[in-house]
Parts: sequence; C-alpha cells; structure tokens
Amino acid sequence: MKMIPVASVKLTDAEIAAMEAVLRSGHLISGEAVRTLEERFARQVGAAYGVAVSSGTAALHVAYLALLEPGDEVLVPVFTHISTASMVHFAGGKAVLCDVDRKTFTISLEDAARKVTGRTRAIAPVHLFGNACDLEGIQRFAAEHNLKIVWDAAQAHGTRYDGRDIGSFADCVTYSFYPTKNMTTGEGGMLVTNDEKLYERGKLLRGHGQTRKYYHESLGLNYRMMEVSGALGLEQLKRLDEFIARRRHNADFLSKRLGKVEGVSVPFIPEGVEHSFHQYSILLDLDRFKCSRDEFVAELRTEGVETAVHYPRPVNLQPAFAADQVRAPNAEWLSERIMSLPVHPALTDADLDRVCSAVAEVARRNYR
Ligand SMILES: *Cc1c(COP(=O)(O)O)cnc(C)c1O
Repeated sequence: MKMIPVASVKLTDAEIAAMEAVLRSGHLISGEAVRTLEERFARQVGAAYGVAVSSGTAALHVAYLALLEPGDEVLVPVFTHISTASMVHFAGGKAVLCDVDRKTFTISLEDAARKVTGRTRAIAPVHLFGNACDLEGIQRFAAEHNLKIVWDAAQAHGTRYDGRDIGSFADCVTYSFYPTKNMTTGEGGMLVTNDEKLYERGKLLRGHGQTRKYYHESLGLNYRMMEVSGALGLEQLKRLDEFIARRRHNADFLSKRLGKVEGVSVPFIPEGVEHSFHQYSILLDLDRFKCSRDEFVAELRTEGVETAVHYPRPVNLQPAFAADQVRAPNAEWLSERIMSLPVHPALTDADLDRVCSAVAEVARRNYR
C-alpha cells in the first residue's frame, strides 16, 4: 500500500530551470531575482515593502531587533514554532508566554491581558496553521496598551481576514519559505511592512548595516537570501493562488467527511476568515476513545496515512523555557489531542478519500 505523505514538495521543470539559470550566471547572492521577489511577494500580500531574508526565523529576529529595546517584553503564544519566542531573546527582549484559544489555536487575549506589565512593548500573534488570529481584537488590544505588533505568518501565505490579506497589517508580518510551507524557496523568509522606516531598518539589519561597500551605518547580521532561492520563489509565487485553492478544496473535502466522525473535531474557521490550510489539524475527544493520540497516529500509519503532530509540546513545556514556569492549560490540553492530516496540494481526491476512510476506521475501532 502506498503511503500518503503528510507533506510533499515537487518542483516543476520551470522551477528547476530558473534555479539552474542562476547557477550558470555565477551571481549567487541577492540580485535581481531576490529584489523582484521582494516586490512581487509584498504586492501579492498587500504590503508596500518586503525584505527577503534567509529564513522565517531570521525574519522574526530582524523584526524584533528593529522594534525592541533591551529588556522589552513581548507577548507570545506558546502553541507555535519555537522561533516566535526564541528570537525575542536574541533581540535582547523577554518572551512572555501566553496561552491560546482552544477553538482557533491562536493567542488568548484574556491571558495576554493578565501578563501586560510596564515593560511590555510588543505582541507577536501567530496565524497558526493558516487560520487568521482575531486581527481586530489584537489591534484594539495593542492600541490600548501601546504595543507594536509582529504578525508571525510563517504558515499563512494567502490567508485573508474580512477580504483583506493578513500580510497588509501593521506593524510588520513575517513569512517563512521553508519547503513544507505554503510556498518555498528552500530555506528563506520575508518581512513585509507598510512602514518605510521599518523597511529601511530591516534592510540594514539583514546586511551588516551596509549602505555602500564597506560602509556600515549601523550594526547588522548576514541574513541575505540566496539568488537561487529568489528564482525558485518567483516561480513558486506564480503557483501560490493555485496551491492555496487546492489546500482549501482538500480541507473542505476532509471536513465534509470527517465532520460526521464521532469523537473527531474538524478545524474551526472563524466568520470572515479565509483559512489557507497550511495544516489541517483535527482534535480527538479522548473521552470517547480507548487509545491515546499517539496510538491513533500509529494506527493511521498502518492504514497508509502519514500524519504529524503540531505541536506535541508547547513552548512553555520546552526545557529551554522551563525556568519561566509558565502553565498554559489550553495549549497543554491541545497538545495531547491534536494531529495534522495530509492537506497539501499534491493530494488527489482519491488520496483524500483514503485519508477519510482510514480516520473513520481507526476511530471506529477505538471507541470505548
Ligand atoms: C516555520 C515557522 C517559523 C520559522 O521559519 P523557518 O523558515 O523554519 O526559520 C516561525 N514561525 C512559525 C509559526 C513557523 O511555522
């Protein structure tokens, strides 16, 4: 039986040819392709400016460095990739870990409100799995407490909120182009913003503060994107709308079938949100099943369906953050029940049909 993979990256001949042309040109770092990708990607997500960098992690680091003073606190959800929190520390700040909402999986403003202090300078909401955060609620919260907002959209290329792409919101939005994300450049990322000063600051931080050769206006890092990555990104960008449409179709297919399976909750989509389905994550009602989530995952594998768990351990329970002694009951509850099913654009309806049948079968076998 052929295994249905939880992620799949298949490059086209056009993508490979575009990368090969760069390799043959000998211009290997930040040239025309990277500059064009910055312009086109920013335009695609409704932002004025883009700063291409070497990863989503680098985009977060640059954003925090641009906005924080040493000792500043940033409100960060615990149900996310570690970098949303860890990069705050490498920018001299402190990540203040907040719980998430059980339905949307995004930052809980109720918990965030309890954690605001005189040193809180920013909030870093994550559009997790391609769902949109409560953008209006967060903007109101940020205005009330005078906070900057760094939106982590590493999983949310193409997500819309009230008809507007989430990439167009202030103060800045960071993306990742890691292979399994909604589009890829291999390693890569981008910070987009409508704020010209932040854009200029981002470019300096990315490239050693250099404004002309060996002239350093300020200190910075080397977070340049490779030119081959830029060339791949430009080709992938042409396919982004189609990728997202396919992800939405796949999610819709899964929810129609799995919505009827007892003990399984399908993803919640808030009113006005166009989810991009970087991940399609279901929750298991553990009271209904004899098995644990990990056993459910193992049984699905024997049925030929590969899955993944995002995230098995929230940031507050990572050894690296243990000293903070934060509890996040909702994220901890989610981490025991959640699993991601295949939803990527390379799936056929026949694959999706098999995924649904396998989930229904494993559920049926395990009811108590
Ligand atoms: C992938 C991811 C990142 C990091 O991006 P890299 O390109 O892997 O460095 C940051 N935040 C979230 C939410 C992510 O999913």
